[in-house]
Amino acid sequence: MRVIPTHLRALFYLWLLSGLWPTFAEAEWQRQPFQTMGTQAYVEFWTDDNSQGPLLISAVQNEFERINQLMSPYLESSELSLLNRDASQQAVTISEEFYQLLQQAEQLAELSAGAFDISFASVGFSYDYRQHVKPSIEDLAAQRSLINYQHIQLLANNQVRFAKAGVKIDLGGIAKGYAVERSIALLAQAGIQHALVTAGGDTRLLGDKRGRPWLVAIKHPRKSDDIVAQLPLINSAISTSGDYERFFIEDGVRYHHILDPKSGTSPSGLMSVTVLGPDTTRTDALSTTLFVLGLERGMALIEQQADYEAIFISSEHQLYFSSGLAR
Ligand code: ADP
Ligand code: MG
Repeated sequence: MRVIPTHLRALFYLWLLSGLWPTFAEAEWQRQPFQTMGTQAYVEFWTDDNSQGPLLISAVQNEFERINQLMSPYLESSELSLLNRDASQQAVTISEEFYQLLQQAEQLAELSAGAFDISFASVGFSYDYRQHVKPSIEDLAAQRSLINYQHIQLLANNQVRFAKAGVKIDLGGIAKGYAVERSIALLAQAGIQHALVTAGGDTRLLGDKRGRPWLVAIKHPRKSDDIVAQLPLINSAISTSGDYERFFIEDGVRYHHILDPKSGTSPSGLMSVTVLGPDTTRTDALSTTLFVLGLERGMALIEQQADYEAIFISSEHQLYFSSGLAR
């Protein structure tokens, strides 16, 4: 270090205190928690130019909000609400982007023989986990046949039609992962090389944490302040689906927000499933899918997915790893 002459040193400290220094481009971690899509989200990234930070944070928040406007079941103006209102009567034209996500959902439904099925909402909308509301046995019997991804007809020119009256869809099992993935793409396009974006149980890492891996925790499914594992990850996606985020218990039965499309009720063999892989849209949808399939069939499905791995926690508190992780 060069020694600063004594008579200049005071000036130098003054300059440090003056607030002038931030006008120079500085490299720094940028961190911002925010609320979106009914959940807590968080973005963190490294930029060599500090002034880029707030702009990129806003861009990520706006991207989440844009996707929420398209896909929220709570907004009457969303494309999702439009479909749920009109698609049983007539073909409805939606955006290319929304159509493509419906295609991805359809592909997962086919892959899982209907364990992942966005028309779960035909029954799902009759549950209110906060208010401890569930459909009556009669309603469940009447509505169950409305759950079938084959009722969702993806037609030419981004048109969609539902084959039956009463069919409803919801993208809660895939939309957050999609928004996380899009946000990371946006940061990467802006030249960012080290980033983390997370929303609810869906997380995507871009690059590493400058010389070391990111650490992503898997929550304990019954002790909200505990974790069961911490995974060192670089440049990958990780999603967890659990029976502990939105649920109520009645007569000893846990009613939670993942539904088995065959029964219209919550599967009970697992407490949580974590999926790792390259793409957050897919890890999100796959974690929900494996949760529905259960340990045996879920494990069989994930073993067939190149580049994707899973960690299951059974209702007996046992951990199971797919073969790529077990190694
Ligand atoms: P979280 O929303 O907590 O991240 P998940 O990724 O597991 O959890 O998604 C659960 C959401 O997926 C539910 O809240 C619901 O919107 C939707 N969902 C529930 N069951 C199914 C299913 N069988 N197929 C597709 N989506 C589902
Ligand atoms: Mg999911």
